[in-house]
Amino acid sequence: MKKHKLFTPGPTSIPDEVLLEMAKPIMHHRTEEFLSIAKEVFEGLKYLFQTKNDVLILSSSGTGAMEASITNLFSKGEKIIVINGGKFGERFVEIGKAYGLNVFDIKVEWGKTLKKEELEKIIEENKDAKGVFVNLCETSTTTHFDVKGYGEIISKYDDMVLVVDAISSLGAIPCYMDDWKIDCLITGSQKAFMLPPGLAFISLSEKAWNKTINSDLPKYYFDLKKYKKTLEKFDFPFTIPVSLIVGLNKTIKIIKEYTLEKIWEEHRKRAEATRKAISAMGLSLLSSSPSDAVTGVLLPEGIDGEQIIKFIRKSYGISIAGGQDKLKGKIVRISHLGWQDEFDVLTAITALGIGLEKSGYKVNIGKGIETAKEILFS
Ligand SMILES: *Cc1c(COP(=O)(O)O)cnc(C)c1O
Repeated sequence: MKKHKLFTPGPTSIPDEVLLEMAKPIMHHRTEEFLSIAKEVFEGLKYLFQTKNDVLILSSSGTGAMEASITNLFSKGEKIIVINGGKFGERFVEIGKAYGLNVFDIKVEWGKTLKKEELEKIIEENKDAKGVFVNLCETSTTTHFDVKGYGEIISKYDDMVLVVDAISSLGAIPCYMDDWKIDCLITGSQKAFMLPPGLAFISLSEKAWNKTINSDLPKYYFDLKKYKKTLEKFDFPFTIPVSLIVGLNKTIKIIKEYTLEKIWEEHRKRAEATRKAISAMGLSLLSSSPSDAVTGVLLPEGIDGEQIIKFIRKSYGISIAGGQDKLKGKIVRISHLGWQDEFDVLTAITALGIGLEKSGYKVNIGKGIETAKEILFS
């Protein structure tokens, strides 16, 4: 018998107590009982976002909130700057273009990050830009971006907002919406929030809400003003996935009780242990600015990553992710997101080692495990 284990950067494993909560009979979404749960959820989300602003809940995957950030804050022809270091940076470029924005596309080499000073220079040459877009963790390249540093620069401009996609990182690594001067912060349910896919979250600063007033791009379902209005009564403009909200209430309780600081520290530790183990096994990392949310491993020449992933999933029930687009087959990605513990790191490393061995490339798994153990259990 196999135990199914999810070490992908979304969806992630869901704690048993949350699954049980979501299995309860469905309630109607316009009842007092449900709205009191929603009230707790809206309060708890402010803690997760580290903000005083409202956090709106959309029923869509994370990309819905990415689209909403564009359609609600900008107008036709306006210039935006996108820090595009991978598939998800590229998504902002595509959405911006789809809505007729003038997109200044900063192409960052995959696996590299962008220094604060480099962004500063670009902004000085593009002062007419109305927004800067970045992914806190560019999941496709497992790369961390210096959102805090970018916020220091962008906040100096009265008419420019910082939009951050933290879909794979909020709740996993430090992210302070207010202190870092983020104007629009986005995440999704299926990553560090330990829930099934289906909900997206978006919060706007006052500066960002001011931008919604004149925005002329088409919007209806994702018109954030509708969500803000109903939130006054802890309600939603449209039918919300009731079970996911009930599950969310539970995960928020778990996170609050555990505290974000402790959760961040555990993610950091799992990521560090994984990175050091990878090196100890003679393999290299994909990113020169690795995120603690997910680790990307470069595979040796001639090894097919897709084969390895398929093999360990079929043989052992362990899911890790591959590369996207031009990285397909060349890397594997091990997620540290959500409901995981120290032993999951050892499992993932061992599985990768066995997968490589079956592909004809022998690594020293013992050395990897020993190295990870020292970090995880010290
Ligand atoms: C997963 C992810 C997304 C996409 O989210 P969907 O829920 O699939 O729409 C966007 N950005 C980042 C950084 C992600 O990791």
